[in-house]
Amino acid sequence: MSRSFLFAGPDGVGKWAAALWVAQALLCREKRDGLPCGECRDCARVTSCTHPDLHLLFPLPGGKSQDDDEKPSETKAEEFLDEFLTAKRADPFAVVRFKKKPLIKLGRIRELLTELNRTSVEGGLKVVIIYSADQTKDDDCQSVMLKSIEEPPTGAHFILTSSSPERLLPTIHSRCQTVRFTPVDPAVIAQRLTTELGMDAEQARAIGSLCGGGWGNATRLASEENQAWREVMTEFWNGAFRVRPHELLSQIEPTFGSGKRKVGFDALMQAFDVWGYCLWRDCLGLSGAAKSGAMGAPIPNLETAWACWRILQNGRSTLYVNVGERHAIAGTFLALRRRLKLS
Ligand SMILES: [Zn+2]
Repeated sequence: MSRSFLFAGPDGVGKWAAALWVAQALLCREKRDGLPCGECRDCARVTSCTHPDLHLLFPLPGGKSQDDDEKPSETKAEEFLDEFLTAKRADPFAVVRFKKKPLIKLGRIRELLTELNRTSVEGGLKVVIIYSADQTKDDDCQSVMLKSIEEPPTGAHFILTSSSPERLLPTIHSRCQTVRFTPVDPAVIAQRLTTELGMDAEQARAIGSLCGGGWGNATRLASEENQAWREVMTEFWNGAFRVRPHELLSQIEPTFGSGKRKVGFDALMQAFDVWGYCLWRDCLGLSGAAKSGAMGAPIPNLETAWACWRILQNGRSTLYVNVGERHAIAGTFLALRRRLKLS
């Protein structure tokens, strides 16, 4: 088995669940035909994320403001950790988002490496899962990560997960065996939403086509608390290509707030998700309403659609570096308008 995997695919598609299963396969001492038994103490401790030789690293929010690099207080860090693990234990497909920007910091990667250099607690292998490995503060963090993957400590196996693998250094890609998780068919998701969550068929179809192919993302979108924001963001997209640039820019502050009233990082991420789906919808409507410019982006062809998609991905990525949110949104929409040849 490869010493380092990269599981790449949309949010909520099952990368974490699969990573835990691989961890079980490596740590289970009651394996049958090379597969984890799923029942022994080792397997149970992997499922509950309490196995002493299972090391988890994931992005957590930092200090006081969205942008500072201050270490969160011990109690805060514990709370975030708890929030993440509670959600993932309840549903391994859950998409966990925080109000503040979460990042993997260099200090935590170093702490992990120190731990890995010790002998394993139970004398077997050591498994490291790095969740959303692309969400690092900078390339330095990824370089340190890379070094440990290149020269793994004795008995250590790495599993990286990412929904934006293009943000990972090419050298990380070349050192890992990539496993692609393809989006789930929208019809399958819609079906599950109606049978398992009792959602009405029409809404289930809409969410199915909006969730990007991830079940965890679908259940997130389906929750009522997200519904209002989803509608606001859809409307923002629909209007963005019909008004003059200065009108568009003047809408950003009232919509996304400023200072203490600005929307959380989780809401911003969701905004970019929703816009991605709106773009997809507009592409599907190439011959319909969008073509006439009545609503949404007037996409003339698939080549333009692809370019717009790249602009959105890029805008989403800039949220992780130190660019103000309003600048990221304004920059994204101005770039989209330029690509669509709108003034
Ligand atoms: Zn087992």
